[in-house]
Amino acid sequence: MTEPAYRICTRCVMDTTDSAITFDADGVCDHCRTFRDKTLPMWHPDERGRRDLDQLVSLIKADGKGRDFDCMLGISGGIDSSYLTYLAKAELGLRPLVFHVDAGWNSQEAVNNIERLVDVLGLDLYTEVIDWEEMRDLQLAFFKAGVPHIDIPQDHAFFATMYNFAAKHRVKYILTGANYSTECVKNPLEWIYFGTDVRQIRDIHRQFGQRPLNRFPFSNILRHKIYLRYIRRIKVVAPLNYLPYVKEDAMQFLAEKVGWQRYPQKHFESRFTRFYEGYWLPRKFGFDTRKVQFSSLILTGQMTREEALARLQAPGYDEETIAQDFEYVATKLGITVEELQGYMDAPNKTYRDYKSQRHVFRIGAKAMTLLGLESAVKR
Ligand SMILES: [Zn+2]
Repeated sequence: MTEPAYRICTRCVMDTTDSAITFDADGVCDHCRTFRDKTLPMWHPDERGRRDLDQLVSLIKADGKGRDFDCMLGISGGIDSSYLTYLAKAELGLRPLVFHVDAGWNSQEAVNNIERLVDVLGLDLYTEVIDWEEMRDLQLAFFKAGVPHIDIPQDHAFFATMYNFAAKHRVKYILTGANYSTECVKNPLEWIYFGTDVRQIRDIHRQFGQRPLNRFPFSNILRHKIYLRYIRRIKVVAPLNYLPYVKEDAMQFLAEKVGWQRYPQKHFESRFTRFYEGYWLPRKFGFDTRKVQFSSLILTGQMTREEALARLQAPGYDEETIAQDFEYVATKLGITVEELQGYMDAPNKTYRDYKSQRHVFRIGAKAMTLLGLESAVKR
């Protein structure tokens, strides 16, 4: 079988390392077309958005009367959730329950950023510490499974904690830092599979795990997308989509306001994710998530295509840091560097090699698109 020829979009920097990518006659990829046809028409970061947001904020405040909190949000220490926290409390006057999931991999910058924000804004922080022995076991199972999506244990712990908190504290509104401005292009499914697929997590753990997961937080897609949303009426709101949100300006703003610290790349607030997205994923699988991040910034006018291409020339990681982090990750997971290297060299697998709820996600996504509830579907 011959490899299909390499090709890159003429508008963004997505290319054939995303095997499902398609191009039109002008060489523009389907991510760009989805942005133009689906996202742009429903995105109003202007006066109209501001009016809609103000209305929403009134509803949230009215609903929260007499309660300890009127909404909740999760903070990772990264720019999107940090800026959202500032916006919610200082500018929109909301009373959020702010929580953080400590999965054992916080970077120094993340810890500092969360502390500074909570301090300056006078917020109470709820920290959920994930049982480290279980976390370690699940992460190791994903390494052994050979799949690209080894960040799912962290991802899922975050989601599940969020929904568990919302259900427990009877909070009606969840604010999310998800936004079109920096995330309008999504990671292809073959790069990073759904973090909410409990069936896949359980199957991989059943095959490769060594201890039972008694305390690890789980949330099934059916529970949080249907039960919590439609029966308990919990609503997820993305305030950053109603305002002009420019990543560079937001970082500058928070640095001045609260002493927020920059970190070198999106998601690098977690040391595990830095290792995973910066090194493991591009080196083992050829998937460079910077292409997705830069493409989002290109489409939303925050980066030129030339700048993105120039930055992609260099690896996201220097050799010295790789060596250090390789050892750090191995030691923390309780294995040798050689064992970790062995997982790097083992055959590559995909989410299709394990049980999944893919069909549930596919049907759900179709229904959401038909109902106009979601625009860009991960593919
Ligand atoms: Zn494109």
